[in-house]
Amino acid sequence: MIRTPLPPPPAAQLLDVRADFPLFAHRPELVFLDSAASSQKPAAVIQAMAEFYAHDYANIHRGAYRLSASATDRFEAVRDRAAQFFHAPSRDGVIFTRNATEAVNLVAHSWGQTHLSAGDVVLVSEMEHHANLVPWHLVTRQCGARVEAVAMTPDGRLDLDDYRRKLRELPVKIVALQHVSNALGTIHPAHELVELAHAQGLPILLDGAQGAPHLPLNLDELGADFYVLSAHKMLGPSGVGLLLARPEALRGLPPYQGGGDMIREVYPESSTYAPLPHLFEAGTPAIAEVIGFGAALDYLDGLGMARVEAHERALLDYALGRLEALEGLQLYGPSGPRCGVVSFNVAGAHAHDVAGFLDEANICVRAGHHCAQPLMRAFDVPSTVRASFSVYTTPADVDALADALGDIVQFFA
Ligand code: PLP
Repeated sequence: MIRTPLPPPPAAQLLDVRADFPLFAHRPELVFLDSAASSQKPAAVIQAMAEFYAHDYANIHRGAYRLSASATDRFEAVRDRAAQFFHAPSRDGVIFTRNATEAVNLVAHSWGQTHLSAGDVVLVSEMEHHANLVPWHLVTRQCGARVEAVAMTPDGRLDLDDYRRKLRELPVKIVALQHVSNALGTIHPAHELVELAHAQGLPILLDGAQGAPHLPLNLDELGADFYVLSAHKMLGPSGVGLLLARPEALRGLPPYQGGGDMIREVYPESSTYAPLPHLFEAGTPAIAEVIGFGAALDYLDGLGMARVEAHERALLDYALGRLEALEGLQLYGPSGPRCGVVSFNVAGAHAHDVAGFLDEANICVRAGHHCAQPLMRAFDVPSTVRASFSVYTTPADVDALADALGDIVQFFA
């Protein structure tokens, strides 16, 4: 159905923060619509890291001198900040990792090694990012367990009837589902997913790589046993991720990696380990990047996550209206709850060619399978073009995309 575009959202519904992001001052021509891959960084984050390196840098958790003690305090303060920002059940379950991928690997390895055995099922979905599939393939292959997937509805939501059925009928040991789809923007009903898993006595991991940057979160209330995310997708630096776990879900698990910082006593032949959260943080972490992530959380708190969500929803509605008015464009994704992601193909054109044409117009989008090959197979397409939004996206960005696509559609018609 071709629908008439809505007018741009009123300024009162939108954030006005572009000036906080230095990249746009350096590249005023840029239309950046690839925030689901990685977001741009506000000056506050860049400065926090630069100042830490210039004035306050030392390794943490081990120095006898004041500079190291103060670096440790600042690092640990970000753990408290993250616990508070996400309403985590306890700071003991706030584990710094390199990214969301490493956080899933940590759970798959440590939880899987302890709890999975031959015949068991890890229940994922066919919408997952590969980061929430491959770690489970690795661990199940080792112990003879297997991975089964909840189906997707034709419009790109999780099929909840299939979820209920598989929870009831399969020998599931753990559920691992995404909170928000990176390929389509679908916001899954997280509370319901957790309640249904818990009703069967099962732990659940939610992949929040695309949820945490866009939605207000209260993890204590949500109750997921494990929630993972990446700082670089939420205005923070690369090299930092979080596993936010209920501490009781981590108790008794073996460490994921061994080395400095995660030990209590070490002998040549054996070692004992530090308590949570340090048990899961072997080696020197990305110290300045964690400080930068703290600044990103402060920045997002200043905006308010409810306003972030409203801004992106208003832009999404505007974008859908403009793109649905273009004949020759196939759009993917549900009309229901959805973050600022628009996935599409141009009739007669390969997604990479469309992205190349858009790049000629200084419009940055992602083209490909979006690390979600099972989802692409379910839609029977090799790839899509994806435009994705963040706090700095404007109606003018959406207009530039829609205008350029108007020309591209004509070209391939
Ligand atoms: N999960 C989802 C839904 C994602 O979109 C991504 C990245 O695009 C990841 C996991 C992995 O994130 P990272 O590469 O930062 O570990």
